[in-house]
Amino acid sequence: MAEHEHVPHVRVAVIGSGFGGLGAAVRLRREGVTDFVVLERAGAVGGTWRDNSYPGCACDVPSHLYSFSFAPNPDWPRTFSGQEHIRAYLEHVTDVFRLRPHIRFDSEVKLMTWDAERLHWSIETSSGSLTADVVVSATGPLSDPRIPDIPGLDSFPGKVFHSARWDHEYDLRGKRVALIGTGASAIQIVPSIQPDVAKLTLFQRTPPWVMPRVDRPISGFERGLHRALPFTTQLRRGLLWGIRELQVQAFTKHPDELGFVERLAKRNMARAIKDPALRAKLTPDYRIGCKRILLSSSYYPALTQPNVDVVASGLTEVRGSTLVAVDGTEAEVDTIIFGTGFHVTDMPIAERVVGADGRTLAEAWKDGMAALRGATAAGFPNWMTIIGPNTGLGNSSMILMIESQLNYMADYLRQLNVLGGRVAFDARPRAIDAWNHTVQERMKRTVWNTGGCTSWYLDARGRNTTIWPGTTSEFRGATRRVDLAEYEVLRGTGAAEPGRGSEETKLGVGA
Ligand SMILES: Cc1cc2nc3c(=O)[nH]c(=O)nc-3n(C[C@H](O)[C@H](O)[C@H](O)COP(=O)(O)OP(=O)(O)OC[C@H]3O[C@@H](n4cnc5c(N)ncnc54)[C@H](O)[C@@H]3O)c2cc1C
Repeated sequence: MAEHEHVPHVRVAVIGSGFGGLGAAVRLRREGVTDFVVLERAGAVGGTWRDNSYPGCACDVPSHLYSFSFAPNPDWPRTFSGQEHIRAYLEHVTDVFRLRPHIRFDSEVKLMTWDAERLHWSIETSSGSLTADVVVSATGPLSDPRIPDIPGLDSFPGKVFHSARWDHEYDLRGKRVALIGTGASAIQIVPSIQPDVAKLTLFQRTPPWVMPRVDRPISGFERGLHRALPFTTQLRRGLLWGIRELQVQAFTKHPDELGFVERLAKRNMARAIKDPALRAKLTPDYRIGCKRILLSSSYYPALTQPNVDVVASGLTEVRGSTLVAVDGTEAEVDTIIFGTGFHVTDMPIAERVVGADGRTLAEAWKDGMAALRGATAAGFPNWMTIIGPNTGLGNSSMILMIESQLNYMADYLRQLNVLGGRVAFDARPRAIDAWNHTVQERMKRTVWNTGGCTSWYLDARGRNTTIWPGTTSEFRGATRRVDLAEYEVLRGTGAAEPGRGSEETKLGVGA
């Protein structure tokens, strides 16, 4: 097919330049793979930490754990770093590991189609087409903002935006603002904007459990120590990791043990909020941990301020500039900020991946997402996702899971190389079913499934397709090696196309 001869080809196409995509790029280089490209729809690296620049945006996991193990940073300024520092860290990683020549910015992947004859992916992006033997999709679990379909929203005369697309040009001072949602982003936004706005109305469908955030600047002495004795950074990371590994049993096997944490959270609320009516509105009726436990020492105090109203009910309708809650409460506002999360269980990239039988991944996953070891799907050979189904965590750093998936990716490529020639691996449906069965069986006892809440961890059918029901070490063990018995090996006819490597220059990669 003549058209294939004109498009550049790479060994690996990585999609996304957040922690997942950049981590994949570093790992590829370390494995000796230089023939790869990172396709990024935006104009800069950083993913989550580029897009979420709302006031107060910060990590919920201490920085020494929420960073790459291969790129420790002795200079984290705070125990829980803010968005700008995490973003700067990712820019730094990009430079130190010389990734920039591989990255194609402003290249949104529109469509990926498996070519069963040539055993490669044809990829169409907003900046041109290419083909790749392997696709590593790191498009992020919390990347595409979700705005609920609220009747009348189109007629709202004021300003509307999502927390992940903050409009920094827009001045909130003196405005009557409605914040929709009480998730991780919203509870960081509330104390950050409350002092500036004329009125803040918080629409709360479900109250979160909130624990104090023990955040402090990291002293010059500590930083000096970490620089002089790098093992102290590792020690610190190890301790942070170990504590979280020990907590996992309570989340996955003994949710009743979390009652103790619930009492601490209630005490935390009682200290900050004296008004029993407000406390009643803010007290969750589900087990702590069922939804993500949120950390903030300033959220509750901000809610007690005279310019804040908590509407303990979801937004149901917009009538002009009046917002109407399910319980009938009305609020007149100038601005609506949606802190309503992301498309998680309906991963948008899945609509754009067309597999061996002509179906999209979204169609293949119409009854719920499922992937072998969180990475590969049957009928989508040589396509893998980073932070795929059931790889999310409720209590620890996602970077640990990403690095485990990168181990899997590295072994996958090694095994492809060992077999040589034109080869692809296609996950066997039986292997996926077995993996998924084990995951879902373990899920039955977890607090996420038994805690009595509905959360973004569950899909439309109520199945938990997002969380990993175990420790990060267990996941690391499960992704150390690719077991070829779990894959069908597809072989193309003939050797690799001559001249494929020469396309590197066209892409400007191979630095
Ligand atoms: C506000 C916020 C706070 C968080 N806090 C924590 C925390 O405390 N602890 C924790 O463990 N996790 C946290 N997370 C989760 C976080 O998403 C992960 O930890 C991690 O950053 C995900 O990295 P990623 O590379 O997989 O995805 P992302 O960082 O989302 O990067 C995905 C990239 O893919 C690009 N992309 C998407 N689609 C396409 C396309 N079609 N074509 C080309 N490019 C595309 C995007 O532009 C983006 O750059 C938080 C998330 C948010 C939103």
